[in-house]
Amino acid sequence: MSRVYNFSAGPAVLPEEVLKEAANEMLDYKGTGMSVMEMSHRSKAFEEIINEAEADIRELMNIPDNYKVLFLQGGASQQFAMIPMNLMKNKVADYIITGQWAKKAYKEAQKYGKANAIASSEDKTFSYIPDCSDLPISEDADYVYICENNTIYGTKFKTLPNTKGKTLVADVSSCFLSEPVDVTKYGIIYGGVQKNVGPAGVVIVIIREDLITEDVLPGTPTMLQYKTHADAKSLYNTPPAYGIYICGKVFKWLKKQGGLAKMKERNEKKAKILYDFLDQSKLFKGTVVKEDRSLMNVPFVTGDEELDAKFVKEAKAAGFENLKGHRTVGGMRASIYNAMPIEGVEKLVEFMREFEKNNLK
Ligand SMILES: *Cc1c(COP(=O)(O)O)cnc(C)c1O
Repeated sequence: MSRVYNFSAGPAVLPEEVLKEAANEMLDYKGTGMSVMEMSHRSKAFEEIINEAEADIRELMNIPDNYKVLFLQGGASQQFAMIPMNLMKNKVADYIITGQWAKKAYKEAQKYGKANAIASSEDKTFSYIPDCSDLPISEDADYVYICENNTIYGTKFKTLPNTKGKTLVADVSSCFLSEPVDVTKYGIIYGGVQKNVGPAGVVIVIIREDLITEDVLPGTPTMLQYKTHADAKSLYNTPPAYGIYICGKVFKWLKKQGGLAKMKERNEKKAKILYDFLDQSKLFKGTVVKEDRSLMNVPFVTGDEELDAKFVKEAKAAGFENLKGHRTVGGMRASIYNAMPIEGVEKLVEFMREFEKNNLK
């Protein structure tokens, strides 16, 4: 067996300990004589799994009692519709467009009401976060929407927008559990888990209770109402049980690492190794404005497409996988989520230094 350093943006690297534990429990989960994949979601064993997972994420994120934690399906993209269907009482919402994921959410919301793009960084290929201190927030906006960490472009909101009292909704798919958050600042925090938490197929929605109502847009399917899942404690129908089980293990792993403050410290240290190298390199350069750099996704280029391709190819051969940048940005992107060990980034930088030496004209 040999594992590579996997810099994929998602689905992405998971802690090796978690994978090993899951492997050990594959045939017989804690004396049940079956795999978690094979058991009833109404069984006592699974009830314990989902209850513990919820308790652990509540502890990690310090989630107040007036917020529900929902384990849903449909990925982050399903939330692009579910949010307006459930929250657009006035049929107005404001969107801050900082990348493709925010833009997709904005376009989807237009199906259900008036979605306003109140700020955008598209003019510079989403390489920065716009100033959100005094935006033209709509008076009757049901919510203000952001994508907090932009997976493709490698930017992150370092301060949350001033929503002027409106409910903040945030897609945190690619920065989930990477640092402490103040949940009370949001109406909804949600993320697909396949970036930083678990296997694809689970989306976690943390939602303030007053936003969970029966007053949804006409025609909203039962499965797309937050109330359905909140009332049934995420067991209205068969949930993505195995995925939830792995997420639960990752929560326990995070607790063992020392929690989110510790993860932030480690993530900052890890990202700094790569950014410091990029800032002094004569061959590679980062594509994002310094103050808006993500700790999770680090895009960079050489400025020469052929050389980029050569780098990706040689890196792969050396055991550094999935470094090719998103098709809309080109170049390279290293996603360095919670489970990427510091040695992975150190070795990558070593490899980049060597590549630079050999290819600098
Ligand atoms: C990956 C990603 C999505 C899409 O997730 P799916 O689960 O594939 O729908 C949405 N938002 C962000 C920020 C992402 O990184």
